Amino acid sequence: MKMEEEILKHGLMIKRSLNKKIYTPINYRQRWFTLTRKFLIYYDTENEEKRKERGRIELELVHTVEVAIIAGNTEENRPQGISYPFQIGYQESGQDYILYVLAPTEKDRTEWIWAVRLACRFNKCLRGRYHPAIWNGKKWTCCKSSTRSTLGCENSSTWIAFVEESETNKENRIASAQSSPIMPGGTTPGTPSSKQKEKSSVIRSKVVVALYNYKAIEPGDLSLEKNAEYEVIDDSQEHWWKVRDAQGNIGFIPSNYVKEKELLGLQQYDWYVNDMSRQRSESLLKQEDKEGCFVVRNSSTKGLYTLSLYTKNPHPHVKHYHIKQNSKGEYYLSEKHCCASIPDLINYHRHNSGGLASRLKASPCDRSVPATAGLSHDKWEIDPQELMLLEELGSGQFGVVRRGKWRGSIDVAVKMMKEGTMSEDDFIEEAKVMTKLQHTNLVQLYGVCSKNRPIFIVTEYMRHGSLLNYLRRHEQSLVSNQGLLLDMCIQVCKGMAYLERHNYIHRDLAARNCLVGSENTVKVADFGLARYVLDDQYTSSGGSKFPIKWAPPEVLNYTRFSSKSDIWAYGVLMWEVFTCGKMPYGRLKNAEVVERVQKGLILERPKNCYKEVYDIMRKCWSPVPENRPSFRVLKEQLISVAQGLLVD
Ligand code: AMP
Repeated sequence: MKMEEEILKHGLMIKRSLNKKIYTPINYRQRWFTLTRKFLIYYDTENEEKRKERGRIELELVHTVEVAIIAGNTEENRPQGISYPFQIGYQESGQDYILYVLAPTEKDRTEWIWAVRLACRFNKCLRGRYHPAIWNGKKWTCCKSSTRSTLGCENSSTWIAFVEESETNKENRIASAQSSPIMPGGTTPGTPSSKQKEKSSVIRSKVVVALYNYKAIEPGDLSLEKNAEYEVIDDSQEHWWKVRDAQGNIGFIPSNYVKEKELLGLQQYDWYVNDMSRQRSESLLKQEDKEGCFVVRNSSTKGLYTLSLYTKNPHPHVKHYHIKQNSKGEYYLSEKHCCASIPDLINYHRHNSGGLASRLKASPCDRSVPATAGLSHDKWEIDPQELMLLEELGSGQFGVVRRGKWRGSIDVAVKMMKEGTMSEDDFIEEAKVMTKLQHTNLVQLYGVCSKNRPIFIVTEYMRHGSLLNYLRRHEQSLVSNQGLLLDMCIQVCKGMAYLERHNYIHRDLAARNCLVGSENTVKVADFGLARYVLDDQYTSSGGSKFPIKWAPPEVLNYTRFSSKSDIWAYGVLMWEVFTCGKMPYGRLKNAEVVERVQKGLILERPKNCYKEVYDIMRKCWSPVPENRPSFRVLKEQLISVAQGLLVD
């Protein structure tokens, strides 16, 4: 999971309606709140499968996090009984909003306030004043001012970042906050001791550890050395952070190359591969082909880990062992050998097989390094002089694609856009946004060479080319490995869920537009590009190049694209994957396909495809767009199918 997606805190609380429209009545509803590094999201229920997102606040926009006063139970629909209100003020599209939340206990309120403050502590928009009580439609009930936009009547409390304190101290403070109630303004009654005051003014910076080496290329960037520590000076940009190294050098680094020291956990070890699936770990270890080669990965059961170990005895294969915990919290693979931590356990089994098929020896050395969002901070225009063009990789709708090296070291793919095939100026504008989309399952756009013609689109290089060709080339080995096929679908779904979260529509999702890299990673490519194509044959649903076979009824009838039309296309992509690259609807002509789709006829179940997997495809092909699941829900469903069908 990416750092920004990690859930820092979650829980049930009651939310007061935001009243974004002037005339909506006030109501209070129970919501499931989830705090990540970037968002505070609220859902209608805790149940991940059924829940719907009801709203989110971008934490970057937050200026106030304070205790609130909502006097008495006078408001309509206000839940009876004691609750502990707090407020989160933020500005969105130039408008001020305050989200009032009622925590169930004082402890919860204190913890939530601190958790949100911690996530917002570097915000530039933090305000010094706020209104402790609510606006009742006519005036602020605290200061009686009748101007809604007046500055607050109270000073905001000091934000003490308690990252530097140990868990014990944190517990103590929460306990003390419980015994001495927080007053409006966030201060506790009584004068804080000078020591406390001193502490409250200290905001300790974030320390990160490099997970990979990174070589600075542009002036202003800083090189990273794997395992070294860096102090974060500015993390206000999502993908490029300004950090200081041990020698005091300052510069930008890609944020996905580092991990906060306190959250590092197993990531500091080469043998830990995070969310790698069983199937991918098998192909990685088989490729390495070394006795005792191993990885530790997250098990599909949350919170558990699995050791995957390659052995040649009696024949080359991979064995998977769950790492278990006993009642004392110790870890073990065989009950006779328990250790206090997973690294200790791995060390133990490096020296003793202790019941395993082999002693643990090495972990695969060729761990792929993630792509950066752009080739440097704020860089999306690439100098063609710095590109060395190599062999042709293929050609498509827009022209030839060649492998390249940027500044002689970074592998890239260069799409040389045939002139007249796309509205170039619009695309160049869009490319600035697209370089900022970053996900393990999206082909990274590095930038464009837009000063000369033809323009070049420079992306991450994917060594195995298009998913469609990969499926066709490897049909023999893939057809019997339904787990790997399902894993490919899950990867595409993860990339699409990211696009959906960012309200980005692909418009041409299909196996031909996904690419395969090392370790069987699959990434979605060419997202959003369809909007800039000038060829009528491609853009109009009656055109010969229009992807009719991937289009739902509302696209065929009204050219209505949405994330839900992407879902339909995703169902067809799943079908392509499980048939190892067959053409959907075989040789049927476009007009015949349209007729079938209008009649509600869907693609048949691929041979050997699990019923549970086909059921998911069918959900994607609901004729009513609203009845199709979201990618977020789809992802959860696919993962649970994978858990149910395969041994982890
Ligand atoms: P396209 O124009 O995107 O359809 O690409 C044409 C062909 O070029 C694809 O089918 C791939 O085989 C190859 N290709 C495109 N992009 C990449 C990439 N980023 N890495 C490797 N091969 C690529």
